[in-house]
Amino acid sequence: MIYADNAATTKMSEAAVNTMVSLIGDTYGNPSSLYAFGQKAKEALEKAREEVAEAIGANPREILFTSGGSEADNQALISAAKLGEKKGKKHIISTAFEHHAILHTLKKLEEEGFEVTLLPVHENGIVRPEEVEAAIKEDTALVTVMYANNEIGTIQPIREIGAICRKHGVLFHTDAVQAVGHIKVNVEEDNIDLLSASGHKFHGPKGTGFLYAKKGIKLTNLIEGGAQERGKRAGTENVPGIAAMATALKESVENLDAYAAKLTPIRDKIIAGLKEIPHSAINGDEESRVPSNINFCFEGIEGESLLLLLDDKGIAASSGSACTSGSLDPSHVLLAIGRVHDVAHGSLRLSLGEDITDEDADYIIKSVKDVVEYLRGFSPVWRDLVAGKGNFIL
Ligand SMILES: *Cc1c(COP(=O)(O)O)cnc(C)c1O
Repeated sequence: MIYADNAATTKMSEAAVNTMVSLIGDTYGNPSSLYAFGQKAKEALEKAREEVAEAIGANPREILFTSGGSEADNQALISAAKLGEKKGKKHIISTAFEHHAILHTLKKLEEEGFEVTLLPVHENGIVRPEEVEAAIKEDTALVTVMYANNEIGTIQPIREIGAICRKHGVLFHTDAVQAVGHIKVNVEEDNIDLLSASGHKFHGPKGTGFLYAKKGIKLTNLIEGGAQERGKRAGTENVPGIAAMATALKESVENLDAYAAKLTPIRDKIIAGLKEIPHSAINGDEESRVPSNINFCFEGIEGESLLLLLDDKGIAASSGSACTSGSLDPSHVLLAIGRVHDVAHGSLRLSLGEDITDEDADYIIKSVKDVVEYLRGFSPVWRDLVAGKGNFIL
């Protein structure tokens, strides 16, 4: 089987599993307990905090462990909104193709009286920094732009946007769930105030993640209770999960260049192969793109059928994000880059793992070509297009 859905979740690395197993067994003390037994767990927790901080160029005191990317996104946005509100600033800038953890939190804030501007991401799936600057108003409290998109893999000009926010004294958050552990991220160099990441997207365990908040930014609690995480997130810490996440992140960051060198040519080979399919188009910029992501639209077919037939051939892929699979709505990301509904429905996302081989790439190309041709063979939409009733879009 070829697992090509790493943007949905990744397999835990062997090192991360080993860390987790070793801590799950004997280190079951509560890190808040004062006796040595608890302190051993506390040590593991703080070592993880140092490793995570180091991986993104932060200070350990700026790292707050969460249950994942969604929680970190919620807490970042709600905290920044509350800070803004205190100064009478109730405007937030984001983009139309964020993850739902961002978009739904923004909806909630809108219902609470905040004003939200969603910037366009254009056909290449990239936000323009000058448009961010133009949208900043007197009462802008926060700009939140994702680092890399989870469906089309496009990398955003985060450093430039961060610099603009600094210049205007506006807080800047980035959902870096698809970037951390995949491409170089450094909160200092990238001018980031708040950043979200998720363990299971870089070979750590599910249910782990973290929020980076630059020193001096006061966070709002989502969970009240004990004084864990410097009083900003109550609940006994998931020590084995957190430590395993740190192991996975350290490993991913140490191998960033090697993985990029391996994945990029394989990605580009698959892109070139799929482009040969008539009436198809790649989604998102080809250059500014994470090394693992391939996303295509094929006219005249249904993405869901494509996935099922690829599954039969032993290829696990996606037609968008895991969260929208199973719903009939086309991807909001593909609509945001200007794909019309019919075309957006025929999409395929392949997100490669580091263990992918050149032979896998050949097999993927051949399988997708065969399946698209097969499905078009009995698609009424395709038959009409070929018969000249209606126009091809791609
Ligand atoms: C997966 C993902 C999330 C959610 O992370 P969880 O750890 O699953 O809660 C948020 N943002 C992006 C861009 C993602 O890809």
